Order: sequence, then structure tokens, then C-alpha cells
Amino acid sequence: MTQMRRRFAAFTAALVMSVGSGAVASPAFADPRETEKSPTAQGYGGAVSTVDPEASAAALRVLREGGNAADAAVAAAATLGVTEPYSAGIGGGGYFLFYDADTGEIGTIDGRETAPAAMPHDAFIDPGTGEPYRFTPELVTSGVSVGVPGTPATWERALDRWGTLGLGEALKPAIKVANRGFVVDETFRQQTLDNEHRFEAFTSTSDLFLPDGDAPAVGSVFKNHDLAKTYRLLAKHGTEAFYEGPLAEEIADTVQDPPKTKDTTLPVPVGFMTAEDLADYRALDQEPAHAEYRGFDVYGMAPSSSGGTTVGETLNILDTFNLTEMAVPGALHHYLEASALAFADRGKYVGDPAFVDVPTGALTDPLFGKERACQIDPEQAAGKPVDPGDVSEYDGVCPATAAAPAEEKDTENISTTNLTVADQWGNVVEYTLTIEQTGGSGIVVPDRGFLLNNELTDFSTVYDLEDPNRIEPEKRPRSSMSPTIILEDGEPFLALGSPGGSTIITTVVQTILNRVDLEMTTPEAIAAPRASQRNTASVTAEPEFIDAYGSQLEEYGHKLTPAGDAFTSAAEIGAATAIEFMSDGSMVAAAEPARRGGGSALVLEPSR
Ligand code: GLU
Repeated sequence: MTQMRRRFAAFTAALVMSVGSGAVASPAFADPRETEKSPTAQGYGGAVSTVDPEASAAALRVLREGGNAADAAVAAAATLGVTEPYSAGIGGGGYFLFYDADTGEIGTIDGRETAPAAMPHDAFIDPGTGEPYRFTPELVTSGVSVGVPGTPATWERALDRWGTLGLGEALKPAIKVANRGFVVDETFRQQTLDNEHRFEAFTSTSDLFLPDGDAPAVGSVFKNHDLAKTYRLLAKHGTEAFYEGPLAEEIADTVQDPPKTKDTTLPVPVGFMTAEDLADYRALDQEPAHAEYRGFDVYGMAPSSSGGTTVGETLNILDTFNLTEMAVPGALHHYLEASALAFADRGKYVGDPAFVDVPTGALTDPLFGKERACQIDPEQAAGKPVDPGDVSEYDGVCPATAAAPAEEKDTENISTTNLTVADQWGNVVEYTLTIEQTGGSGIVVPDRGFLLNNELTDFSTVYDLEDPNRIEPEKRPRSSMSPTIILEDGEPFLALGSPGGSTIITTVVQTILNRVDLEMTTPEAIAAPRASQRNTASVTAEPEFIDAYGSQLEEYGHKLTPAGDAFTSAAEIGAATAIEFMSDGSMVAAAEPARRGGGSALVLEPSR
């Protein structure tokens, strides 16, 4: 915000009248809330990209006041918990990547939700019928799918490890936004409407998100005083106040006995979480997954997310082809085939490494990628699903050895949010966080202002001993979140990530391909239409992608189906953010120009 706007803001703040949580009409004159946004910004001294102008402004303010990238990332994430409450918040989990400019090292935090200790293998079987619960409506709107949240622990750990601020300071901007409210945009209203039936099922949720029985109007101001109070509690006492004591008890009670409205017809299976599960939660420090692509070092999340291994394997396969020499449809054909192969291996091998032996080394080994590349016919798409490779036996020489196929059903939803921050010292954060599907479980913890996740739907629904992603007590369900930082000669080149369930992986790969092989700028690489091949009979694609490449790709034998699902009205894939580090020392922050209503990219000093 400019000095001028800031002063004007202070003046008008006093004139904005509203009481309580929920939405009220906004005044017709300028107010202090951040609504202006631009998807691209280039400059110096620090940069941020998120899906939301309030969150980006919060991060920028922290950077301006001398905070570093970790501080600013937590401030932005906490603000997203206010303004993007259906995608992320303290009721969920995520993965945090940090490039430390001092050491040149990348560290990661696995803040994934965990299954409760008492969760049985057959938790997703309806005791009434002996049959698996339907995914919708039973599983998605339930206590049984709520995992122990990891986001508060992630923030605290990130600040302890890399930050300069305490949690209290980092939460301040978000507390302010929660109290003074933010301006409701089309995306927020639409997401509320998409969830209306689920939100109506709970007294706590309808009170907060359906004030007066309706989704907040576009242009109204939405406040969340309950969340501000919860954040203040964490600010004062640390995350102990979340994982132990009254709030932990309330979360467990809410999961075990969701606050259903009297007349809801939704079944809402109850969950198993106890206060002890919350007390036992730990965010985990982890080594990153690593792959090399065209001479760049690509770092991502190791399992429990499948992001780093699957992005890495796809890139290892693609690294064996010269995509730049190909016409664009040819390069895209290779991209689609490579990701199908990597998804076959993801399904067969990846789960929580604390419970299953994940061959992370093999999956990200260039030799394995080389051997998997043997499967790609440059002229013809393979029939899907393709078989996984054999990680116990590979030498990079064709023909490749196949392993027995795995049963796979993709039930990940399309939600989540992602942010990228860099500071004046050269530290970089890439952070993806989620409550699983848009609106999570649909259950707000009464009087606490936040939704609980339904992340445990990322476990396979049916228990199978061969399946690395089968339900186990205390296990983390397999994720697709793929925060990625790419170094060139040890220095940051590009940091990027996206929401989108399992399409996260393909969005990250396609954006890298666009930037590195198809020589787009980073903003162009993000804006370009997307397609996602996750080892299924048909490729999910945005309508603009089908218009541009559909007929040429059909000649290779690809079948393309428009994106979109039962939960959302938008036919789009992902909502990426990125920062590219230019050779002149400037940073290009890039967000979506259109998807999810467009994001907000900011830099500290537009010029020097
Ligand atoms: N649950 C998904 C995952 O962990 C994220 C949800 C989404 O991006 O929509 O990969």
C-alpha cells in the first residue's frame, strides 16, 4: 500500500461500521482492505505471490519491517486462514520448503495431518451396512475424515527453525484482517454457495459462513472475530494452546460429535480423534526430495507427500528427451506420457514412510527415469493405465521391467492454497497448505472460527495390504502437494507450487516445462492452459488447452476431457504461485491472472 493509501485507510477505518462475525454491507468509499491485485510484479528486496491480496500484503508488510521469508510466509498463511478459509487454515496441514541463503541448503517441514491412534483399518466401512461409505456425501462431510491438524505446529516449527519473529508477531496481520474483515469476492461467494448444503448441516458452520442463511454477498465485508480470538490465544501461549487444553478437547469433541443441525439429511459419520492425538502431533523436519533437470537442481517434498518423487520422476523421464527441438504438441505428448508413468509408480510405491518402505531413492534416480522413458512411443499414446516400473531391478537400459499394477482410485479433491516468498537476504519459502477439499469437512469448531480438514479422505478407501496408502492409525495420508524450489549453480532460479489435489504434480511439472523447455516467461508459464495425465484413460484438460492442442493430441491417441468436478463450478486446474530470480538480481513474482479470480504478486522495491 502506498503512503497515501495507508493514511487514507487509517482515516476511513473508523467509518466502517459493523458488528459481530459474518458479512455486512461495505461502504461505497475506499476502505483499508486490500482488494487491488496484480498477477505479476518485478523488483528487488523481497517478493511474494499468493492467491489473495490481503495475504500478499501481510507478507510484504512483514518483509518491509525487516522480517525474513519464513516470517512473511507464516504471516501470509495465517492471513489466508482468514480470507481463504475454505482452502487452508489451522484446521489443516501442509508442506513448507525453505531455502536458506546462509547455508545454501533446502530444509522441509512435513506438517501433514495424521490419523487418530484409535482409527481402525475399516474406519471407512459403514458399520450399518458393512459396505464402504460413499465418498460423497458420507466421507467428505464427516468426523471420520478429520486428521490431526499440522498447520499450527508447522508455523511454530518454521519460525523456530528459520524465522526471526515469534508466533505472536507473525500472527498479528492475520488477527487484524480477521477483526476488520475482508471484502468478499466472487470466488469466496461461489465457494460458499458450492458448499451451502454441507455448511447448513452444522450449527457452527452456518452461523459463521451463512450469516442470515445466505452466502456473503460480493462486495460485503466478512469478519471472523472467533478466529481472531483463536489466533490471539496461539499468539499468547504458543501452539500448546491448540494441541493441549480446552481447544484440543473441543476439537476432539467436535470430531467425535459434530454439531449437526436438527434438520440436516447428511449422514456425517463420527470420527475417532482424541485430545491425546492432538497432544501427540509433531511437525517433522525432513530432507527434501531431489532431482536434476536440464542442469537445474529441483527440490521438493519427500513422502508423506508424493509431490517431490512424482515431480522428480516425471522430470527425470523428460530429461532424456530434447523437448525444445520438438513441435509443441510433440513436447506435450511426452509430458503426458511421462506423468502417466510417474503416477503409476506413485500409486504402487508411495505412502507415509513411517509405515511403508518407500523407494524414494529409486523413484528419483535418473537411471530409473531413463528406463521408464523406454516406455514412451514418440508417436503414440500408450493405453492407460500403464504399469508401474520395477524399482528393485533397473539399469536404465531398454526394455524396462514392469511390476504388478496397483489398484488406484483418485479421490483427491481440488482445493488448497500455495504461496511463494523471498526476502532481501535471498531466503526463499515455498509453502502449500490445505484443509483438503474446498470447505474441508464442512465442520467449524464451535466459537473458534475455523474449519476442520477432511484430509483422511486422501487414504485409500478400501484397506488392502498391498497398498502403501492404506489406512493405519497415526499414519499420514499420501499427499500430492509439491512445493518446489529450483536452484541453478546453488542459487535460487525458480520457486513454485500450486493447489489442485493430484493435479498439483502435473501443474508443477507443466509450469517447469513451459518455463524451461518451451521458453515462456514465468508469468506466461503460469497463465498457459493446463492438462493433467494421472495414468487414467483420459487426460483432464482446461477448455483452452483442448481448443489449442486437443485435435493434435488426439492424433497421438490422447483422449481429452474438460476439467471440473462435482464440487466446484470452475473448469480450471490449479492456482499456482511462483517467483523467478533473474540474473540482474531482480525477482519476478507471478500469480494466476485468471484462475480462482486471479492472485496477487508484490515486490518490495519495484525499482532501484
Ligand atoms: N489433499 C490434497 C493433497 O494433499 C490437497 C488437496 C488439494 O490440493 O485440493 O494432495
